Amino acid sequence: MFKKILIANRGEIACRVIKTARKMGIKTVAVYSEADATALHAEMADERVFIGPAASAQSYLSIEKIVDAAKQTGAEAVHPGYGFLSERETFAEALRQAKIAFIGPNVHAIAAMGDKIESKKLAAKAKVSCVPGFIGEIHDLKEAAKIAGEIGYPVMVKASAGGGGKGLRIVWAENELAQAIQSSQHEAKASFGDDRLFIEKYITEPRHIEIQVLGDKHGNVIHLGERECSIQRRHQKVIEEAPSPFLDEKTRAAMGAQAVALAKAVQYESAGTVEFIVDKDRNFYFLEMNTRLQVEHPVTELVTGLDLVEQMIRVAAGEKLSIKQEDVKLKGWAVESRIYAEDPYRNFLPSTGRLVRYRPPAESITNGRTIRNDTGVYEGGEISIFYDPMIAKLCTHAATREQAIDLMSDALDHFGIDGIAHNIPFLQAVMTHPRFRAGKLSTNFIADEFKGGFHGADLTAELKDRMSAAAVFMQLREEERRRKISGQLNGTTAVSKEWTVTLNSADVYAARTMTEGRDVVAVRLGDGKASRMIEVESTWRPGEPVFLGEVAGHPVAMQVKRKSDTYALVHRGASAAITVRRPRIAALSTYMLFKAPPDTSKLLLCPMPGLVVSIAATVGQEVKAGEPLAVVEAMKMENVLRAERDGVIKRIAAKPGDSLPVDAVILEFE
Ligand code: ADP
Ligand code: ADP
Ligand code: MG
Repeated sequence: MFKKILIANRGEIACRVIKTARKMGIKTVAVYSEADATALHAEMADERVFIGPAASAQSYLSIEKIVDAAKQTGAEAVHPGYGFLSERETFAEALRQAKIAFIGPNVHAIAAMGDKIESKKLAAKAKVSCVPGFIGEIHDLKEAAKIAGEIGYPVMVKASAGGGGKGLRIVWAENELAQAIQSSQHEAKASFGDDRLFIEKYITEPRHIEIQVLGDKHGNVIHLGERECSIQRRHQKVIEEAPSPFLDEKTRAAMGAQAVALAKAVQYESAGTVEFIVDKDRNFYFLEMNTRLQVEHPVTELVTGLDLVEQMIRVAAGEKLSIKQEDVKLKGWAVESRIYAEDPYRNFLPSTGRLVRYRPPAESITNGRTIRNDTGVYEGGEISIFYDPMIAKLCTHAATREQAIDLMSDALDHFGIDGIAHNIPFLQAVMTHPRFRAGKLSTNFIADEFKGGFHGADLTAELKDRMSAAAVFMQLREEERRRKISGQLNGTTAVSKEWTVTLNSADVYAARTMTEGRDVVAVRLGDGKASRMIEVESTWRPGEPVFLGEVAGHPVAMQVKRKSDTYALVHRGASAAITVRRPRIAALSTYMLFKAPPDTSKLLLCPMPGLVVSIAATVGQEVKAGEPLAVVEAMKMENVLRAERDGVIKRIAAKPGDSLPVDAVILEFE
């Protein structure tokens, strides 16, 4: 076994690999860029090597610097994680020449599977069922139209070098083909420096289901069942689970057999993933093979009980697989949520800055229920514009799918993040969505169910009551504290029992506190017949950012922020601003003057720190709502900023190449 390995990556995956190495008694070397001098992965490793500037091209993507770092520290092997150099055959080759082991597949397998056209040819030869289409490069529009016509619309135009959901376009009819080819080609050239395209059938109502494979250097290959990754936004995975609620034993076995056949065809000798697209009749078609550890590998670990990183390290050191196909048993259900630094309320724009608060739910294994959180950040750390915006991967595992989802909902409620925008409310809205819970998934789920964007989960009557009752409880605790501090009242004088609750400045109802104990308050919400008694039990005290307790018999966690006299609460993905006042004060407050915030409706502001790529508008131009105005790049993503309403451009304040802070003015309307 290796004594020391280097991890050629950063963030959560570097931390995750270090954990397993440590468990195996292997020393670790981290590499880090200027932006990562205080990053968690660099802190965790036994040794660390500085490899250059923040831009990945000059650090995490520099083969030379990483090979040098391995030589210099005497690391015998390198784990590439995912992304960065993980699927570069030149990297695996450079390591081979330096006589350093690559914890991944052989150079040929990477090369054969790295190109979508080549891998489809190979898959067809290994009798793997491929998406119908023409397996080859298209050269011009005429040829493309002919091929698309033969396949039958809708079709998908794809970049052969593609990855990360880039260079893909759905084409519903011939008149959209030219545009799709142009933009796909442009994106492929910019992202991969390779603009070869091909066309395949677009499978409608598609589900993304992939098979985890594992091989060794002795010709053994097994599969570890599937993961379903159909919850995607713009062809990028957001929520994954194992097993898939859609597969039966027969389909699973058939997909597994094909995945193993393909892996054997390239002498696969590590962990890898064969991705399939599955139609509503459970026909499945090969999409691509990822020759690396996948982001969502933890759900497979949770249902199989295996440590995939450990398996990768063992087979890289030449060990034989110690498990056979028949030893693989899938147990229970696992779900993963990718927690991203992005603002779901503002079209998922990436967010950067300091993590002022970072309090993940506690990791635990109790009564067959597991909460696991893979992360590479810490409270006080920085989310920079240079790398991918993933903050953490929260996973839960339980006996059934329903229990795993409930556990996830609960864990998401406990997760506290401040300082940057994050997608937890959105993930929560998916977890509580009836269609998701019913397992009726497709890769169009998000587009279908959140058509007009995301505006918070529905505030149902039940949630309103639950949050209002908790707010009354918290208000009582605040008043108690104030009484003690001012010394005006010593607790023997009765506090008010009558309250007026105002929710989101819209719903107003009466509340009456009935009985009150140290940690229990019974609240009557509403008047007369419509009133309901709700018991709240909690040890919450003023200043705590999370309300934990029981409301009407339900265990509840809510994120709490006190803003002057209002509680901003977030629970199950829904937000509510609740004010609890004496009835007389509430009545008087309606006479308060409203102070309008400054009018920024005539400005296009930069939504996050980033680099201006292009400005599409000119002074005097008339634009319609939805028209693109500018493109700003941050976190490897190009973000198109669009007009929110019709208007005429008065002034342009930024130019391509400008590096802007958040809220900088880009242009102004008349
Ligand atoms: P996986 O196939 O393992 O599920 P993804 O498909 O999400 O991973 O991502 C494919 C690759 O693209 C990964 O190597 C990942 O590092 C990278 N990637 C994913 N999302 C982003 C992002 N938002 N920005 C930059 N890179 C990303
Ligand atoms: P990448 O290398 O970017 O991961 P993939 O080929 O794996 O590219 O496709 C990414 C996603 O695009 C899939 O998960 C799926 O949602 C969608 N997709 C790709 N090909 C098809 C297809 N032929 N029909 C329907 N959806 C597809
Ligand atoms: Mg893919």
